[in-house]
Amino acid sequence: MLSSLLISSEIKFKENESMSLHTTMKIGGKARYFITPENTKELVFSVNACKDEGIPFVIAGNLSNSVFSDGGYDGAVISTLMCKGVKPMGDDIICECGAGLSAVAYYAYKNSLSGLEFSYGIPGTVGGALVMNAGAYGSDISTVAKSVEAYDHESGKTVNFSVEDCEFSYRHSVFSSGRYVVLSAVFALEKDCKEKIKSAMDDFTSRRKEKQPLDMPSAGSVFKRPEGRYVGQMIEELGLKGFSVGGACVSTKHAGFIVNNGGATCADLKKLIEIVKEAVYDKYSVRLECEIKFID
Ligand SMILES: Cc1cc2nc3c(=O)[nH]c(=O)nc-3n(C[C@H](O)[C@H](O)[C@H](O)COP(=O)(O)OP(=O)(O)OC[C@H]3O[C@@H](n4cnc5c(N)ncnc54)[C@H](O)[C@@H]3O)c2cc1C
Repeated sequence: MLSSLLISSEIKFKENESMSLHTTMKIGGKARYFITPENTKELVFSVNACKDEGIPFVIAGNLSNSVFSDGGYDGAVISTLMCKGVKPMGDDIICECGAGLSAVAYYAYKNSLSGLEFSYGIPGTVGGALVMNAGAYGSDISTVAKSVEAYDHESGKTVNFSVEDCEFSYRHSVFSSGRYVVLSAVFALEKDCKEKIKSAMDDFTSRRKEKQPLDMPSAGSVFKRPEGRYVGQMIEELGLKGFSVGGACVSTKHAGFIVNNGGATCADLKKLIEIVKEAVYDKYSVRLECEIKFID
């Protein structure tokens, strides 16, 4: 049994854990197991234990881009949040998968290292950012990633990826397939003046505060950016700001975000997304693609 394997290895877990407590959108039913490995060795062990026991599993970073269905997840959610080590390596830094992007960017700033300023304020982990090729303000994680160590749970081997092997594209990478568990990454940064780094981080922070509904639960931008168009602008032009289904509501601050006004279900969110997609297609002939990952 999975629980006995975890107990005998002293790996912490909970059963029937509500995922609404862990997603930034505060949506999701109960997961059968919620496992919190304390290091990458325990992370790999947990993955292998699930495979051996035939239990479906999903890797969770900060769940800032993920939503679970209302019926929950009949499997194991394996959280990386305790694997959060960050160390210098010359002008590079090496980070474990669960390190928060903002914490890593702040660490880089403290060490006068530039390159991660854009990521300050993205509420994800290093692992989630590599899967999503997270980006902002004209930059993304592919611009700083030097190498990534990941566990291939199909072959049972740990693989080292160069940046080329990562196959980064817009909000996508080789890690998006679910075959690999990102364990750690090396970011190549450049020495620069601390004040300059801090001022860029401050600028991005104030732009986020001004434009984004940071005081409401959300999963960030709901849709990927289509070529040559701004999603928020199209949705706003359609008069959909503030439009809601149950507790899910198109943000009045940024129409590209959907916020949880309280008690939103995954069904509310999905229905609202479909309404927005249809309205955008009818007016602009643009098919929006969802950036949020739905897990069921
Ligand atoms: C207020 C707000 C603002 C945001 N702003 C931005 C922004 O500016 N730019 C941007 O790109 N995104 C933004 N996001 C979205 C989100 O923060 C990013 O996509 C982030 O990279 C997701 O990281 P995470 O750790 O939360 O990933 P999760 O949501 O936990 O996971 C995302 C996917 O990655 C997988 N995964 C996570 N960790 C691993 C791992 N170690 N190994 C293998 N698979 C893994 C998960 O299974 C899932 O498929 C924002 C979100 C919010 C709520």
